[in-house]
Amino acid sequence: MNEYHQSALSSFEYCAYAYHLERIEGKRSLGSFATCRGTAVHAGREHNLSQKIESGVDCQVDEVLDATRDSVNSDIGKDRIDLAVEPLDGMSKRDAAGKIIDTAVKLAELDHEQLQPTVRPVGVEVPIVIEIPGYPFRVGMRLDSINADNTVSDLKHSCQRRDGLWLTDQYQPPLYALGFSAHTGRPFKQFVYDFVICTRGANRLYAYRREIMPTRQQTLAMLNRFSAMHESILKGCFPPSHKAAWKCSPVYCSQYRNCKYVF
Ligand code: SF4
Repeated sequence: MNEYHQSALSSFEYCAYAYHLERIEGKRSLGSFATCRGTAVHAGREHNLSQKIESGVDCQVDEVLDATRDSVNSDIGKDRIDLAVEPLDGMSKRDAAGKIIDTAVKLAELDHEQLQPTVRPVGVEVPIVIEIPGYPFRVGMRLDSINADNTVSDLKHSCQRRDGLWLTDQYQPPLYALGFSAHTGRPFKQFVYDFVICTRGANRLYAYRREIMPTRQQTLAMLNRFSAMHESILKGCFPPSHKAAWKCSPVYCSQYRNCKYVF
């Protein structure tokens, strides 16, 4: 039985050909400034919330910032980040790490000060795989944080504010609700988005929270999309993204240099 991780659906829908290159042909892809910074802020949160399961209190911010810096230095040191595309192009490894760390630690500090204090984790980075009756595939996910009040928290790092339709268009809330109930056997209360934002250009930093209770219709729509992806994969159908789409650029597509459709 095929198994798809939650992130596979978004990747496939942005560009099925990039999905094929990365997940079927196994072509190596490199991260970017944004993915490296987002991973680093996550690492800071994971450090604090993991120890908080036992201690019940937040750790000192210095520990969070150390985990954030370590994540950036590890990614850069292991050549996982593309230093040929903006805004890191032409930089040495040391300068690139410094540029990413500069705002990563500020975002991690904001998260630690404003969002993490009200999170009461009972599980952090929890891997879950579920079978859904009537669907011929399994779906996997990794929950950032399962909380004592039957919520699931997820940290999002972005360069722009996310509200309105963006919140209800995401696959994570309905999927994580299914995963939470299968994993814990308890009724799901709601999905909590914790956002840390660093705006482009002005580098304005702020944090905020949004709570979502996915509807049955959103759950069915999400599963229908997984089904459509599954059928395309079985048929070997992996069309490229539109050339004018934002995804189809060396900055946002990690398979750009392997792609036969760009010119
Ligand atoms: S460059 Fe465009 S078409 Fe090619 S893999 Fe990336 S998103 Fe898809």
